Formats: sequence, structure tokens, C-alpha cells
Amino acid sequence: MWGIDLGGTKIEGVILKSAEEPEVLFRNRVKTEGRQGYNHILKQVKKLVTLMEEKARYKPERIGFAAPGTIIPQTGLMKNCNLLVMNGKSVVADLEDLLGTNVKMANDANCFALAETQLGIVKQQFPDAKVVFGIILGTGVGGGLVVNGQVLNGYHGLGGEWGHNYLNQAEGEKCYCGKVGCNESILSGPALEAYYAGLIGQKRKLKDIAQRTTIDAAAATTINRLTAHFGLAVSVLVNIIDPDVIVVGGGVGNIDQIYSEGVAQIHQHVFDHQFAAPVVKPALGDSAGVFGAAYLFAAAHKKVLIPN
Ligand SMILES: [Zn+2]
Repeated sequence: MWGIDLGGTKIEGVILKSAEEPEVLFRNRVKTEGRQGYNHILKQVKKLVTLMEEKARYKPERIGFAAPGTIIPQTGLMKNCNLLVMNGKSVVADLEDLLGTNVKMANDANCFALAETQLGIVKQQFPDAKVVFGIILGTGVGGGLVVNGQVLNGYHGLGGEWGHNYLNQAEGEKCYCGKVGCNESILSGPALEAYYAGLIGQKRKLKDIAQRTTIDAAAATTINRLTAHFGLAVSVLVNIIDPDVIVVGGGVGNIDQIYSEGVAQIHQHVFDHQFAAPVVKPALGDSAGVFGAAYLFAAAHKKVLIPN
């Protein structure tokens, strides 16, 4: 299984032995150098795939890609990509032409959720989970939905795009997406750090803020803002898809209060105040994107076994 994580600064590739035996056979990375344009990014991908082929000594039939954007299912064009030169491009078709393989591409938050389901914390601790929601709370806020081991991409490719759900217009800042009060504009690391700085006139990292709640009223207010809004934002999700497990990745996901006060706040806001699903930290760290990419085709092929 071949996976590539197309990131803003690096493009990482991995070859896993199989879905059942996900031993890492090869792993390497090249720079994205996105400023040099779309064709240059494709060239960098080709360079990486050539390295992978030299190591594997064969050409793969399919490669899964994680990307920081969404493929519009009807047109195959990229949208919402923070590698801006990719937007509006037929990325999948262009990669298939360039590499001579089938390509499947998913948003990196979807790949995160898929990797944690197939290989990470869900596989390790909750192997019977059918519906998994992966949340990324970091510089940005995003999400991915996995149902029965497959990414649920949605009609517009927006499945799992929880980061830009409306959360609180009165409290939230204007988001880059054009709306006010998105989850991202309240729950992202930079948003919380800016909120704290606004209260006290001093900048601190969120990690430090979280450790100061007993001695610093502004820190306590900031962490309460995080946990209260986390509970509210997740309760909306629970009332719609009621996942078996919620995995919280990204830097903000390391804040311990999310798993105590944050989860208590989910109870407050879900329909009948009953909430027992595990809310857990991920197991794969930065590797989730590339592993999830490798599983994109594996997951799709799970039901139809192809004889060797
Ligand atoms: Zn937004």
C-alpha cells in the first residue's frame, strides 16, 4: 500500500506491506517548494514516487494521497487548499497522467481519521468502532469522518468539515473562510492565544496558559472558553452522527482539560445529556496523514477482495 502526504512544506511517501500487516517498508520525503508553482509540485511528487519505485522495484497500481484541500467529487478539481496554487486544478487526473497509476485523494483531516481508525488509537483500543470522528485542533481546525473503515467524503467533498461549523457569532472572530464565529475562529491554538493576550496584554503559548489556570484568572477564562466551546461544538456533531469514538489531534488536542471539563461540557449540550463515547488522543502523531493516505485504497477495496 502506497501513501503520499502532500503537505505545505514537505511531501512524504510511505510503502506499507499490507492493510493486515502494516509494516513500513519505505519512507522518505522531499520538499514541496510550493512557491515554484503547480507544475513544480507535481514534479516533486514524481521525484518522490521515482525514489519509492526504485526501492520497491515495481510500479504501484494505485497510490493514495492526503492533501490540505478537498477534491470536488463532480469535477475532480481541488478546492479549499492552503497550497493555493493547487486550487482549481485537476490534481487527481494530472497525477494519474504523470505517474501512470490510479490516484485517490482525500483531505488530510480525513486521512488522519482513517489512519487512527485503521492503525492508530481506535484500532488499538476500540477495534469494534463503526463510526469514528477525528478532530484536528491545531493552527487550524478540521475533522474527518470514517464509517465502517471508510472515509465519508460527502456529496461536495465536505464530509467532516467541522472546523467551519457555525459556533458562536458573538464571541468568534472573522474567519478566513469569510464567516464569523466558526469553530476554527474560537478553538484553534492561535485564536485561543490571541484571546488570552487580549485579556491580559501578554502573549503566552496555549500549553503554558493551560498550566496557569489556578494562578492566573485570564488563563482560567481562556481554558474555560476552550472547554465550553469544545463541548458545544462536539455536541452538535454527536446529535447528528453519534460517533463510537472521537479522536482529538493537533496541538490543542494535548490540553488535558479537554478530556475532563471539555467532555463534561459535551454532556451538558447533547440531546439527552447522556454521553459515554470515548474522547481520546491519537496514537500516530505526525504520521497519520501519510498512513491514512496509504489506507485510502485499502479501505475502498476491503469489501471486494481481489485474488492475487
Ligand atoms: Zn471559517
